[in-house]
Amino acid sequence: MDEKYSILFEPIQIGPKTLKNRFYQVPHCIGAGSDKPGFQAAHRSIKAEGGWGGVNTEYCSIHPESDDTNRVSARIWDEGDVRNLRAMTEEVHKYGALVGIEMWYGGPHAPCLESRATPRGPSQYASDFETQSYCKEMDLDDIKMVQQFYVDAALRARDAGFDIVYVYGAHAYLPLQFLSPFYNKRTDAYGGPLENRARFWLETLEKVRNAVGKDCAIATRFAVDSLAGQDGVQVEEDGIRFVELADPLVDLWDVNIGVIAEWGEDAGPSRFHRMGHQLPWQRFIKQVSKKPVLGVGRFTDPEKMVEVIRSGQLDIIGAARPSIADPFLPTKIKEGRLDDIRTCIGCNVCISRWEIGGPPLICTQNATAGEEYRRGWHPEKFERKGSDDTILVVGAGPAGSECARVLMERGYTVHLVDKADKIGGYVNDVATLPGLGEWGYHRDYRETQLTKLVKKNRDSQIALGSKEFTADDVLKYGADKVVIATGAHWNHDGKSAITMAPIPGVSADLPYMVTPEQIFAGSKKIGKRVIILNADPYYMAPSLAQKLAEAGHEVKIATGVELGRYMHFTLEYPNMRRVLNELNVEIISDVWASRAEEGRIELYNVWGEGHRIQYNGAGKHPRTENRTHKWYEYDTLVLVTGRTSNVALFQELKLRQADWKLNGIKGIYLIGDALAPKLIADATFDGHRLAREIEDPDPQHPRPYRREGAVWGVAHMPGASHEIRYRV
Ligand code: ADP
Ligand code: SF4
Repeated sequence: MDEKYSILFEPIQIGPKTLKNRFYQVPHCIGAGSDKPGFQAAHRSIKAEGGWGGVNTEYCSIHPESDDTNRVSARIWDEGDVRNLRAMTEEVHKYGALVGIEMWYGGPHAPCLESRATPRGPSQYASDFETQSYCKEMDLDDIKMVQQFYVDAALRARDAGFDIVYVYGAHAYLPLQFLSPFYNKRTDAYGGPLENRARFWLETLEKVRNAVGKDCAIATRFAVDSLAGQDGVQVEEDGIRFVELADPLVDLWDVNIGVIAEWGEDAGPSRFHRMGHQLPWQRFIKQVSKKPVLGVGRFTDPEKMVEVIRSGQLDIIGAARPSIADPFLPTKIKEGRLDDIRTCIGCNVCISRWEIGGPPLICTQNATAGEEYRRGWHPEKFERKGSDDTILVVGAGPAGSECARVLMERGYTVHLVDKADKIGGYVNDVATLPGLGEWGYHRDYRETQLTKLVKKNRDSQIALGSKEFTADDVLKYGADKVVIATGAHWNHDGKSAITMAPIPGVSADLPYMVTPEQIFAGSKKIGKRVIILNADPYYMAPSLAQKLAEAGHEVKIATGVELGRYMHFTLEYPNMRRVLNELNVEIISDVWASRAEEGRIELYNVWGEGHRIQYNGAGKHPRTENRTHKWYEYDTLVLVTGRTSNVALFQELKLRQADWKLNGIKGIYLIGDALAPKLIADATFDGHRLAREIEDPDPQHPRPYRREGAVWGVAHMPGASHEIRYRV
């Protein structure tokens, strides 16, 4: 290890526990909760194995009054949860890491859709994060009762083997609702001046400390500034004053900024936030606290980590996303293998799964995230190859490059070819969009690894700038197996999910109509007045609008779907909308195009007419009598309507299946966007999976994975019975 990084490996005392180094996986959601103990234990312990000194659960509900269904939290409500979470603590302890639990009570931000309980809060209000979720204003009995929930949960947490117990007040959950005048309108001893607003949190910390403080370190997670000016908590006012009050009760401070209603200011997407973007607020805390302070900020660069600690801004490097993208980040720093780090690109696709509710996390960079238990995938270890087959991979985008990488890691001889002169495929274009430069790390990681792997196995090859491979080329190549990863393209004819049909008059062959690829290629002149016709629910239309508006074009987006809907899930939405407003991009919502001509396009309101649906006879559908059509003028029409797989090569090979055997080919497989357009994360996953399962009789189709769920007749809760019993 480079000596300059040694400070990152110094132990630090937190209450009764010693953290072995300065790498700390803060609480973050993964979709495991307490109901998928195998997933929970494997995902967290892989980080402990990778060198993280501390790892945590996600937010962990202390009582059914804090039920976040359909998003997945952990829960520590009963003995069953204790037993399931103990699987995690035991696995993590095997690697000498500390394990923490983030005790959570959400107030009205937890909608209690499963438990049907009524959450309590300092005053009565509707959540500014949830829909239709009000809390009951707590009276003094309520306050005692809820504080006891924390104490009971802390005792269960200790029994489950946790070393660190949080009273979680960041992201505007209950303790912060008491502290912040934005929510707290009380006039009794729990409202008004700071000392009163802090009382609930301080008393809760004291009670939890009295209950488990000898055995466990007491942590608190605190949003030191809620970014709402004087309406909320401001770091130099209530922020540091609260830290002074609570410092004697806390063994570890975990500090961040922002509230749950816009928590992209905390888990900042790289589109808007650089590494360490919270430090201007976080740095105040060490000035008043005598306890260790940690914080997050997408810290992936060891130089920056060292600087942050040496300059006295933080004691411990907190990380969620960097630990997901690379569970072995600390080990790689320790071993001086910096070029092996799989750097988080800050896309927030991991978070999108939690926001959607239900599904396990995925990661754009790390295809094994969330697959540790159910598919048995280790991020750094691979099963040795099962044959001496040689493999040709056509297309070096996310799918093809990941497939080739994992095949080579497994010892296979692989030839990776691409007509482009760079690895990365679609990522090379996307990373040129405003703010998305860091997405290029996806390509960089694979480029570096493939270059190293080819050096190790001289029979493997990467051929960039190759010719466009035809079916003949593939058949004659001499490989035993072939992987087709030729990607997808944006539609040229306006076809989208809205009408499933081309739009009359639309063609990207015309000089005044362009697809995103044509913009990236710079192959057409873009006129002054631009209309972007959008049916894509993610970032392409807003990103191109930003790019073109910044270049001086007058931009309108005509959209038939909610613009940037998926960006709500990646937390990019609020700032994306602010950018578009600042650039005067006009958004024409709820419209689609009936036809287009040079210089003008006819749009209609998708909710036009015909709310009374009735049978009028064939061809007389009331909704087709839409009379909302209007013409809009443009100089260039940008077509962000839909994508289609580049599947011609595969289809031709499929037609010539009889020739496979004659040419010694055992199988040809299709992955990534060429199979169906998808997220970069899912294309990467496709490539990774195929490489792990290539010896299967039918590797095109995934192996079943291990499912964790209740099985009828098996007592999954201590003392449970599966009889159906009615209370009569
Ligand atoms: P994915 O996300 O599925 O990896 P991409 O579109 O990012 O898909 O990457 C596909 C890659 O395949 C591109 O780099 C493209 O240049 C390359 N490609 C497509 N068709 C061919 C072909 N017939 N011969 C060689 N390279 C190809
Ligand atoms: Fe980072 Fe994106 Fe992976 Fe999340 S999904 S850890 S933001 S690379």
